[in-house]
Amino acid sequence: MSEEKKMSHLSPEQISAWLADLRTPEQARHVEECAACQAEISRREDTLALFRDAVHAVSDRRPVRAIVWSTPKRWHQPMLRWAAGAALAALMLGAPVMYWNKQTQLRDAERTRQDIALLDSVNRELDRSVPQSLEPLDKLVAWSPATSPTGTAATESERKQ
Ligand SMILES: [Zn+2]
Repeated sequence: MSEEKKMSHLSPEQISAWLADLRTPEQARHVEECAACQAEISRREDTLALFRDAVHAVSDRRPVRAIVWSTPKRWHQPMLRWAAGAALAALMLGAPVMYWNKQTQLRDAERTRQDIALLDSVNRELDRSVPQSLEPLDKLVAWSPATSPTGTAATESERKQ
């Protein structure tokens, strides 16, 4: 009891320091004889242990980090290490890029499908609505990609003009 009077209990900060092995001989002497401080220290140690377990449990649920941390000895061969690195890179970069590409392709495919549908409807509309007088021009436009300058397209365009 007399020892306890010489020095007050350890403050929370002092107990934190104690757990980090930063302790003065005076504090060591107090804790040796103070059940309250011993109880508080062991309680804090339990909390730390729980925290450590929780961190390990979380890291176990992350396969990528688990692979990095638990590099087996048989991976000392460069090829195996390279393969593991490539697999990791694929996991970390490849998957999202592939997903993004897939999304982009789906979006592009949908846009193309919509464009084709629009063109089809425009063509159907034109087929139905082109007046008789415009028919030669319509044929000319259809013929314009012809490569031969002496072809029907050139002749028709001369006739038209
Ligand atoms: Zn104490």
